Amino acid sequence: MDDSLNFDTLAVRSGTLRTDYNEHSEALFLTSSFCFNSAAEAAERFKHSEDYYTYSRFTNPTVTMFQERLAVLEGGEACIATASGMSAILSVVMAAMQAGDHIVSSRALFGSTLGMFSQIFARFGITTTYVDPNDLDAWREAVRPETKLFFVETPSNPLTELCDIEAIGKIAKAAGALFVVDNSFCSPAVQQPLKLGADVVMHSATKLIDGQGRVLGGALVGSRAFIMEKVFPFVRTAGPTLSAFNAWVLLKGLETLSLRAERHSASALAVARWLESNPAVKRVYYPGLESHPQYELAQRQQRSGGSVLAFEVVGETPEEQRANAWRVIDGTKLCSITANLGDTRTTITHPATTTHSRVTPEARAAAGITEALLRMAIGLEDARDICADLAHGLGA
Ligand SMILES: *Cc1c(COP(=O)(O)O)cnc(C)c1O
Repeated sequence: MDDSLNFDTLAVRSGTLRTDYNEHSEALFLTSSFCFNSAAEAAERFKHSEDYYTYSRFTNPTVTMFQERLAVLEGGEACIATASGMSAILSVVMAAMQAGDHIVSSRALFGSTLGMFSQIFARFGITTTYVDPNDLDAWREAVRPETKLFFVETPSNPLTELCDIEAIGKIAKAAGALFVVDNSFCSPAVQQPLKLGADVVMHSATKLIDGQGRVLGGALVGSRAFIMEKVFPFVRTAGPTLSAFNAWVLLKGLETLSLRAERHSASALAVARWLESNPAVKRVYYPGLESHPQYELAQRQQRSGGSVLAFEVVGETPEEQRANAWRVIDGTKLCSITANLGDTRTTITHPATTTHSRVTPEARAAAGITEALLRMAIGLEDARDICADLAHGLGA
């Protein structure tokens, strides 16, 4: 496909493979294996399994279509899809590292990613140093001779703190480390880390790429050499492969991604502005607001503010803050009380007592997650209805 085409065109036109029936919409290949016309053909195809369809743990045409389309949208050479976002993280580490190697990571991480680094990889001799993502000296000082990988998520959850991808990428390059960016919060419609110096983009496709809360999926996008020579052999052998059905759902999700991302961001900005003007709200965190401390970086690095925002309600004591925050949640009739994000439906959570409840109170305080804090992932409802829903518990 012509690479000079624009994002929205590529999102609906790239990666399509047609069968002899010339179907217009992409076919769903629900088959675990593929047949051969002769013993010689089977032998040949098994020998070059990356170029042919032999068995769906290795390759499947529906999965290929999703991989090719996502690679194009991220501006990468190749993509391997995985069963979930977490299995994408597992796969990139298994592909790039071995016992004794070291990771430098932003400390603002998705909970399961933190668990993966600190508990699971540690058992296999891969250690991790966590740094303040915006302290560039801390990144430099954390590098050791055995450092092989840098990892960031931007914006962070729940406080929407940004990492400067370009600046961290330069440090990773100087250290000879593979720079992996988890782009699940933005999707390529909002942010393209490979163009800013990342080596690999990792996705939980479960979030904005599906966008409708239906299936789990993940992906890694990067250079052809790394993805095909390092990641593909691991995924093909170990089997954290994306299913054809989920690939089909995600492929269709990519077609509407840009439209959805635009609406998510526009509505999140409208809700953030409304919250900022509400006397019952103490502070709003949203990269699209001029009051965000990294507004300039957000303007440079992201096409829009994204779908996630956080805000603090007023309250003198932690008890009063929690009561006020819970009143907002319990006052909603529209918003879903759940932690998913990037969905058509708006979600609201109280991080201190849910997603971050297992973190020690000291670590929570250090991360700025107070009892007053609420996190929202704005969906595709009319923003006026979302504001009206929040007004029940906030006072109009
Ligand atoms: C959800 C999420 C993951 C994990 O993805 P799964 O698809 O649930 O395995 C990783 N990183 C971020 C930022 C996420 O939001």
